[in-house]
Amino acid sequence: MNFYEVAIIGSGPSGALAAYYLAKAGISTVIIEKENLPRYKTCGGGLVYRGRRRLPFDISSVVEREYAQMNVYMEGEQKMLSSHRDLPVISMVMRDKFDNLLIEKAVEVGAELKERHKLTHITFGQNLTLHTSEGDIQTTFVIAADGALSPTAKLAGWKETRKLIPALEYEVEVNEEDFERLSKEVRFDMDSVPAGYAWSFPKKNHLSLGIASTKRTRIDLKAYYKKYLEKLEITEVLNEKAHGFQIPISPRTDGFSRKNVFLVGDAAGFADAVTAEGISNSMWSGELAAKAILEAKLHPEQAAILYQQKLDQELLPELNTSLKAAKWFYTFRIIRNMLLRKYGDYAINFMTDLYTGERGYPKNLMKTIKAKILESKLS
Ligand SMILES: Cc1cc2nc3c(=O)[nH]c(=O)nc-3n(C[C@H](O)[C@H](O)[C@H](O)COP(=O)(O)OP(=O)(O)OC[C@H]3O[C@@H](n4cnc5c(N)ncnc54)[C@H](O)[C@@H]3O)c2cc1C
Repeated sequence: MNFYEVAIIGSGPSGALAAYYLAKAGISTVIIEKENLPRYKTCGGGLVYRGRRRLPFDISSVVEREYAQMNVYMEGEQKMLSSHRDLPVISMVMRDKFDNLLIEKAVEVGAELKERHKLTHITFGQNLTLHTSEGDIQTTFVIAADGALSPTAKLAGWKETRKLIPALEYEVEVNEEDFERLSKEVRFDMDSVPAGYAWSFPKKNHLSLGIASTKRTRIDLKAYYKKYLEKLEITEVLNEKAHGFQIPISPRTDGFSRKNVFLVGDAAGFADAVTAEGISNSMWSGELAAKAILEAKLHPEQAAILYQQKLDQELLPELNTSLKAAKWFYTFRIIRNMLLRKYGDYAINFMTDLYTGERGYPKNLMKTIKAKILESKLS
């Protein structure tokens, strides 16, 4: 039976970055992926600069478009909120190519990829035996990078404590005229669906249009998507592929490691609650898990402590603030819009700074907002 020091389940951005850092440090690392790569992943493919700037290698070969400006339209409001920076605030990628490139980078530095290997069961012991559709693999550490459904977390005994929200993604081909018009901007349309938003992310030759709601009650997202096509004034849909999935927008409450299994990315619930943007935090958490294992010199208990410490230092405080902000933002629509009419420019610039990584979420959001309002009243 093959033995690896670390086995990573899943070849998304969280798994790829974990594999990259571990393999680069000389740790025997295997990536176990149930699909054949490159594989389609349901996602808008909007990579914010904060994620791109953390990457230890260049990814421009898979970037289909870059936008230095993002536009936010508020339902029923006249003014569009907009901000511009002299850098790609948001890069457009198709996840098959993007994820594949990240995996290639991990393989280049020594990680082994096992495609079409579906993890089905784990036998726990001093080492772990991973039972896959193609045979068994032995390992000391498992990094669960297997996405929102995370079979690995279930096999290791985690209960569901994340908040999962429904989202639809459509890959849409439109006529030349509409594409020319819509590919000029990346746009977010707040409240195009109750307690959520829609997006238009232009790719090389088509649009990735999507819709997500932070409400978990039954909601006909498809009907809201149809309305969104009207709002975008799309005259003709030439081709359309629909994909539905879930986004975990709150971290698990029962820990991120146990029995030598470490959760990263969506498996841990690390997408941002306001924007549902998950790629950058996935990559970040993959990096943190790898660094914890490396710094602990492969000592399991020490690695678990270090991983928790690393999460507590930055990622979790940010996610907790974003969770509180999202609750407020999507619940109090009238007050929120009133404030945005007055302080919209501040808010969009704040969001853009978050997206670019110029700043993180404040630890105390309400205090920061109140101080900002007071400051603008005095000036
Ligand atoms: C509709 C939608 C739109 C989104 N848009 C954006 C966006 O524009 N920008 C953004 O930043 N985020 C977006 N997200 C969130 C983003 O897609 C996720 O946060 C991100 O993909 C999480 O990465 P990950 O590495 O944790 O997992 P994933 O990317 O989900 O990768 C998990 C991998 O594990 C593999 N796997 C699963 N089970 C097994 C098994 N049993 N054995 C072996 N392999 C297995 C899967 O095949 C997959 O390759 C969106 C999500 C959705 C649903």
